[in-house]
Amino acid sequence: MPLFYIGIGANFGEPQAAFDLAWRLLAQHPQIELQKRSGLYSTSPVGQHAGGTFTNGVFSLQSDLSPLSLLDILQEIETEIGRTRTIRWGPRPIDLDLLYIDQLILNEVRLTVPHPAAWYRKFVVDPLIEIAPDLRHPVFQESVVQLRDRLSPRPLTVATLGPLPDKTRAADFRQRFSNVEVVDETNPGTLPAVYVRLNDADVQVPTWKGVPVADLTQSPGDAFQRLTDFLVAVLDSPIRIANW
Ligand code: ATP
Ligand code: MG
Ligand code: MG
Repeated sequence: MPLFYIGIGANFGEPQAAFDLAWRLLAQHPQIELQKRSGLYSTSPVGQHAGGTFTNGVFSLQSDLSPLSLLDILQEIETEIGRTRTIRWGPRPIDLDLLYIDQLILNEVRLTVPHPAAWYRKFVVDPLIEIAPDLRHPVFQESVVQLRDRLSPRPLTVATLGPLPDKTRAADFRQRFSNVEVVDETNPGTLPAVYVRLNDADVQVPTWKGVPVADLTQSPGDAFQRLTDFLVAVLDSPIRIANW
């Protein structure tokens, strides 16, 4: 039976109570067999309108339900716990994302699996490694530990596919993220740890020169904001605050 990995997050209300309720609701489903769950982590909010500190964790379950049926169930639970969709990436009492389903690759309107940001968001990576260090990313063919290690060196070299968005503001984020080297793809030198795709016009590929590409084209804001949010998510150091 397929193994599903679910990322869970909240920064509004009582995160742990919301997570417990989600867990109980899933446990009641006859076609769902809950498996492991990670500890809970305190993490940095990502996005201009995200609100305060988040609590995040990851759990796994087995089910013969289709991916879209499982997404329906997760969204029903989000609604039941009081999630309303107003601002994208706004404060929320719960967010349930489908991170991985074994080695499945899906690109549907309502569902992209693996979740495109799962491999670089530290608030997903750290709890996931707790319960599934050997899990392989089906597109990049690297384990989640290898992908984490790729993003660990400091300074971290990040290259944009296409030119840097804005030279003046680029200097701002160089100042803000002093342990990151942002270069543009045409810059010679060492191979970056990661490429980022900021605009729709950029070439659409999962890897570039053998290096994973983070697709930021669906993120809110302009190119500068997208890159900033990406760096906040990558450079975060989640703190394990509780068993769950
Ligand atoms: P992000 O996806 O960047 O974490 P978010 O979780 O805040 O942002 P939501 O408002 O929860 O975004 O979901 C927006 C839409 O994303 C949903 O309506 C859903 O159909 C779609 N979606 C696509 N792929 C996935 C996935 N792997 N898991 C959950 N939702 C997904
Ligand atoms: Mg999410
Ligand atoms: Mg979501």
